[in-house]
Amino acid sequence: MNNYEYILSDISILKGVGNSLASKFKRKNIHTIFDLILSTPSKYIDRSTETKIKDLHIGKIQTVTVLVDKYNFPRFRNLPNKVICSDNSGNLECIFFNSYEGYIKKILPLNKLVTISGKITFFRGKYQITNPTHVSADKNKIKKIHSNYKLTDGISDNIYNKTIQEALRKLPKLDEWLSQNVLNELNNVSWNDAIKHLHKPKNYSQDKKYINRLIFDEILSTFIINSNIRRNFKKKYKLPKIIDYSLTDNVEKKIGFKLTQDQINAINQIYFDIKSNERMFRLLQGDVGCGKTIVSLIAAQNIILNKYQVAFMSPTEILAKQHYKLFSKIFGNSFCAELLTGKTELKKRKVVLLNLKNKKIDIIFGTHALFQKKIEFKKLGLIIIDEQHKFGVNQRKKLSEKGGSNCDVLVMSATPIPRTMMMTLYGDMDITLIKSKPKNRKEIYTYTKDINKIDVVINFIKKEINNNNQVFWVCPLIEKSKKLDHQSSIVRYEYLKKIFKDKVGLLHGSINKDKKDEILNNFLNNKIKILVSTTVIEVGIDFPNATCIVIEDSNKFGLSQLHQLRGRVGRGEKQSSCILLYKSSLSEKAKKRLKILKSSNDGFFIAEEDLKLRGYGDLLGFQQSGQKTFRLADPIINEDLFLLAEKEIKAIENNNKNLSKYNLLIKLYDRANIVNELI
Ligand code: ADP
Ligand code: MG
Repeated sequence: MNNYEYILSDISILKGVGNSLASKFKRKNIHTIFDLILSTPSKYIDRSTETKIKDLHIGKIQTVTVLVDKYNFPRFRNLPNKVICSDNSGNLECIFFNSYEGYIKKILPLNKLVTISGKITFFRGKYQITNPTHVSADKNKIKKIHSNYKLTDGISDNIYNKTIQEALRKLPKLDEWLSQNVLNELNNVSWNDAIKHLHKPKNYSQDKKYINRLIFDEILSTFIINSNIRRNFKKKYKLPKIIDYSLTDNVEKKIGFKLTQDQINAINQIYFDIKSNERMFRLLQGDVGCGKTIVSLIAAQNIILNKYQVAFMSPTEILAKQHYKLFSKIFGNSFCAELLTGKTELKKRKVVLLNLKNKKIDIIFGTHALFQKKIEFKKLGLIIIDEQHKFGVNQRKKLSEKGGSNCDVLVMSATPIPRTMMMTLYGDMDITLIKSKPKNRKEIYTYTKDINKIDVVINFIKKEINNNNQVFWVCPLIEKSKKLDHQSSIVRYEYLKKIFKDKVGLLHGSINKDKKDEILNNFLNNKIKILVSTTVIEVGIDFPNATCIVIEDSNKFGLSQLHQLRGRVGRGEKQSSCILLYKSSLSEKAKKRLKILKSSNDGFFIAEEDLKLRGYGDLLGFQQSGQKTFRLADPIINEDLFLLAEKEIKAIENNNKNLSKYNLLIKLYDRANIVNELI
């Protein structure tokens, strides 16, 4: 067995791990020995220091040595048994619910000294420990630091610790993959030492250097994977395409506004890539409403004039349709544009597939459906992916393979993220930023309102409608749910219908396609004034006439998600507003969170605040695959290690000889099997 093969083996090969235990681990997403040994203790509980009773801290886990003075066993149902203990500084009560007297007498014998460790509470003027689990006459048995893993049903701490020790026992010594320079920065800790120390609670407070080594490996491997995708992407020679610079002016005339300087710069960067002989792999990043779509369509037009096809992929059908319509509006019949989604009818679909293959279609708009195996393009020259955060690096890689060697790729995202995240998620791409918004935009007024004051909101909406404006009303859930106390869109729809009659429409994920289209069309044509919906309207859809968005139970959303939702309004020249509703029971902390939104319209600022509050794993509130990008690294906390890894990946790229020594690292860390072999 190769030394890494052991590490990547299924945990069931370990002694003591039978089927039942293995399946419990698997429920925790621990499949291999590698998963197991990288599962960090969630905390270390320090019971090693003794405290005098008078110095106890309420709420902390602490250790005391006391004399057992007196039993108080009331023998009534529900009343707990008590044991009064003391040291020379004060008294402490041990409280026992549902425990036999015999057991209590055994662990706390009268007039004997015992050492107890547990969480300290304070009740009616007395320190208490309830149902103490760590009690012994032998101090040394208690005064330890315990590793504590996040448990799953049926795996005790003891078993967890034993299984890990078993896994570590046979851990092979791995050859070093890091360069000496980096090792020096990481206190020369080897991977093996780091893993061993991760599970050793002793002197845990100084152990940062061990975990840092592991965090660094995780970051560097991600960067190497990114770099590898990029190299593979660019290494093939591309036929340069020709740019017609006058196209921008023509489009401006048709759309009736001037492009912003940032939009023009973005187009120029894209042009630079398109006419070079390296394939473009570029991310166009800019806050909601900054005008990315038009930039991508101008690029698309150039590609089509070079006799290539364009594929434009969106995360939702609604969005795909909107882009398709926008394109048709601007370019009329000069090009052949089509729409293809998962719901396109079979007959129509066949025609579309055929026409893609024989190049009758110049540009196709659609969802993921565009990249199924069956779909063949005759001559694909550009892939555009909108609202990138819904697609992972793995999908990007597949996609880039689809295009063939003359195909450029442009990815667009409205997710403002800190630089460390950017390096991680998009490290394989070149990046263009659009920082400014079109000048005609007015700032969106943001209000927070207690749901009790819904009448005020209704009056506000009435005024908007009288001014011929339109309103979004967003609710977190589709159906009324007993479990979750969210307002459902259906209930709210019925409520609003009583007031506004047929001016209200309802849209959510389970409404069928025809109905959905009808509703959206009615909203676009201004027949419906209020559109009640779940977050299906979240990404990208453009309704310039909508000037107000009401978000119910707004605290249930992430800040970045709220910012995205708010970006659905304020797209035209009119003054727009966003009303964040909350229930009166909302905590002060949650209200403060909403205030961040009130105080700022800056997506980057909001994203950072969001990250601080929620952690990076749930950046947009889209709990999708459930798998975080990293097991150990955190782009906010470990910024220094990210910067070190960035320096290292540049060094690696610059003298790209010795990549094979990272093969082991990649074998272990490339969970999605993106890289086969580094050479
Ligand atoms: P996003 O970057 O969020 O995808 P869109 O491309 O959907 O934004 O653009 C939002 C709105 O702004 C659209 O209605 C679009 O027509 C308009 N828009 C785009 N660029 C400009 C501009 N330079 N001046 C005025 N309006 C613009
Ligand atoms: Mg968009």
